[in-house]
Amino acid sequence: MEVSNSELWAIGVALRQSVARAEALPAHGVTTVAVFSDSQAAIRRTVHQDPGPGQYLARTINKHARALHAPGIEAAIHWVLGHSGVPWNNEADRQATKAREDRGYTVCERIYTSAATRATRISEGRTAAKAKWEAHKCSKHYGYRLKGKAGSWRPIPMTRVKSLATRFYRLKSGHAPVGTYVKRFGHREDDKCGWCGSRTLQMREHLFRYCSQWNDQQTEL
Ligand SMILES: [Zn+2]
Repeated sequence: MEVSNSELWAIGVALRQSVARAEALPAHGVTTVAVFSDSQAAIRRTVHQDPGPGQYLARTINKHARALHAPGIEAAIHWVLGHSGVPWNNEADRQATKAREDRGYTVCERIYTSAATRATRISEGRTAAKAKWEAHKCSKHYGYRLKGKAGSWRPIPMTRVKSLATRFYRLKSGHAPVGTYVKRFGHREDDKCGWCGSRTLQMREHLFRYCSQWNDQQTEL
């Protein structure tokens, strides 16, 4: 389960508020500060400070707990069943929804600063951009799908060596250096097929379906 940064952030804020009042609390007979969270994953994350998602927030929480310990106050984090009529849990939920609606984003956005989180974000962004690029470039050319891989999220060529992927995407997007293409850009006088010697235009369709030079490959396709 992915640790929710916003849950960790909320636990940290609750403890920080207590730290700010730590000097005054013992006078009121307070010995324990209890924070309630409905996220078990977040609570488990506060137990250790190992590197990984949420490490910055986990360390902040531990720092606050130690600060509370100095004047003799114990910090306790309890799990509470979420969305089940616990009054303050419902109120927290309502506040969170309100914050999302008012601002259009969650208030914990600026907390994403750890190297681990940044690396995750970069890699997720790159994967999404690749998929988007592939979909955009190839959406108009449905004629050439990879056999057995229709509908797969990550097309095979994207994981292959660059030269192979380049050829595949050129074919898919209509930029392969076939006869008609090279003639159009003035690189060659002739746009007929040189492979089979026929007087047919060397188009993608011809190479994939009719050119006698590639009969074996066509059968395999
Ligand atoms: Zn040919």
